[in-house]
Amino acid sequence: MSNLTERIQKIENEIQRACENSGRSRKDVEVVAVTKSVSTVRANEVKEAGIIQLAENRAEELLVKQEAISEGVEWHFIGNLQSRKVRDIINEIDFLHSLDRISIAKEIQKRAKKEINCFIQVNVSGESSKSGITPEELDTFVSDLKSYDKIKVIGLMTMAPNIEDQEVLRTVFKDMKILRDRLMAQQLTHAPCTELSMGMSNDFVIAVEEGATYVRIGTALVGAESEGYE
Ligand SMILES: *Cc1c(COP(=O)(O)O)cnc(C)c1O
Repeated sequence: MSNLTERIQKIENEIQRACENSGRSRKDVEVVAVTKSVSTVRANEVKEAGIIQLAENRAEELLVKQEAISEGVEWHFIGNLQSRKVRDIINEIDFLHSLDRISIAKEIQKRAKKEINCFIQVNVSGESSKSGITPEELDTFVSDLKSYDKIKVIGLMTMAPNIEDQEVLRTVFKDMKILRDRLMAQQLTHAPCTELSMGMSNDFVIAVEEGATYVRIGTALVGAESEGYE
């Protein structure tokens, strides 16, 4: 088995165990491979290995990889999106994980040819270095989005703080699920909010245990470019 196949198998086992531990169905968790730090060649290997949801955080890089890989991939945009870049990518992606400003919503409304699946990015840990709206702003933001019919709020996204403390991480993910559940219960047509995008290489197991429906895994899955190719 190649390193890549082994890494994918290890992640798969860990997700399965996390599902069992928390009484969830494995089918309710999607694995998104974050390919931002590796080449198009590696991204294509990931796809060939069966992970067909790929994520990038820069518009230019997404377009380059897409051009080279094209078929059979669902593309996720997970980075901070500048208004002037919306036009370049909005009709090329399947999911936007980083909606956190009305200015972006306006630009999407203007440029999108179809309804776009969006996650609202929430900064639940309160770190100033992170993008995202605060939990307190969430209800108003969601209700403001109602007039943008190109935007479908399918869920919430967060990046947990980069720390080791498992209990703090768990609290962040629990808080996110509470926010998601509250919105979902409102059954808003423009914001069904059934999904939770959370969990990265270092914390996806806890995120799955706490209800993540999309995990965004970079280095633990795709490896680091400096390793070279297998
Ligand atoms: C880079 C990145 C990831 C993946 O990070 P890893 O620690 O490499 O798994 C996930 N989500 C976002 C928003 C990122 O920018």
